[in-house]
Amino acid sequence: MPLVDLHTHSTASDGTLTPTQLVEAAARSGLVGLAITDHDTGNGLVEAGAAADALKLRFVPGIEISAEFPQPGTMHILGHFIDPLSPALHDMSRILLEGRNQRNPKIVARLNELGCPITLEDVIAIARAGVPQGEPFVVGRPHIARALVEARCVKSMKEAFDQYLGTTGKAYFDKERLTPRQAIECIHKAGGLATLAHPVQLRLSNHAELQTVISKLKDIGLDGIEVWHSDHGPQDSKLLLEFARRYDLVCTGGSDFHGGNKPDVQLVSGRNNVSVPVEVLDNLEARWRSSPYARSRTNAGEAA
Ligand code: AMP
Ligand code: ZN
Ligand code: FE
Ligand code: FE
Repeated sequence: MPLVDLHTHSTASDGTLTPTQLVEAAARSGLVGLAITDHDTGNGLVEAGAAADALKLRFVPGIEISAEFPQPGTMHILGHFIDPLSPALHDMSRILLEGRNQRNPKIVARLNELGCPITLEDVIAIARAGVPQGEPFVVGRPHIARALVEARCVKSMKEAFDQYLGTTGKAYFDKERLTPRQAIECIHKAGGLATLAHPVQLRLSNHAELQTVISKLKDIGLDGIEVWHSDHGPQDSKLLLEFARRYDLVCTGGSDFHGGNKPDVQLVSGRNNVSVPVEVLDNLEARWRSSPYARSRTNAGEAA
């Protein structure tokens, strides 16, 4: 059965493959469709779209936005079929990157106090790798984690998050986030469909709480939920599928591939636990095409 991967990260944010390399890797592994969903930016999407056209791979321009949510949970909202050139997307991206620029120096300063001798310049150099000269890029915690590994302050990316960078780590600082409503509205303004990413990362204590969050998000415009994801077990996916049906939410799924920045996670392949058949992309695209967000676009017919 042909498979797709609708959640991946490139060097435009915190993955280690360039947008073109990511498209090539997807085609090589036999996928028939790919979405790139970088954090806070659509910068790699035009390049990736061209590479995908050349390889006849179905490409979905996407994004992933962090929204406000009580710790230790995290809420991420995915956007699929966004217009990479949308002014709303650029405005939002500028605000979110500014939030990172406020946060990252605080993390590095705390790490220095804790005896880890890394600099912001080290981190920026890691984040810039693979990005064409002069193009903007996103600096995220995985880049700080890599700097910590390179400086031999920790042995692995995992240790960097467990000890320092995760929500309960010694150098954790939050960044400015959009509210869930703002994140959903931004994605809609950029012409895309908004879905709740990896709901298990909300870290809610029971099904009733999860159901309440999903129903509230639906009320403020959420279009779907990510049912299949590397962090989900079969029981998680079963429950999420049930919620999707109950609230008329469209389903999406993907690996959350980050290349070497998440060494345990590979692209969807059918050999790992995330298997996303092409029908998932067909349904997502059909939902998008019948939505007001696609109809408000002049070039909706070409965007996929
Ligand atoms: P940021 O957007 O800069 O706050 O970084 C968030 C990214 O860090 C996530 O998308 C993941 O890729 C990564 N991340 C967050 N928590 C962990 C963790 N515990 N272990 C490994 N990677 C993580
Ligand atoms: Zn990431
Ligand atoms: Fe995420
Ligand atoms: Fe992600």
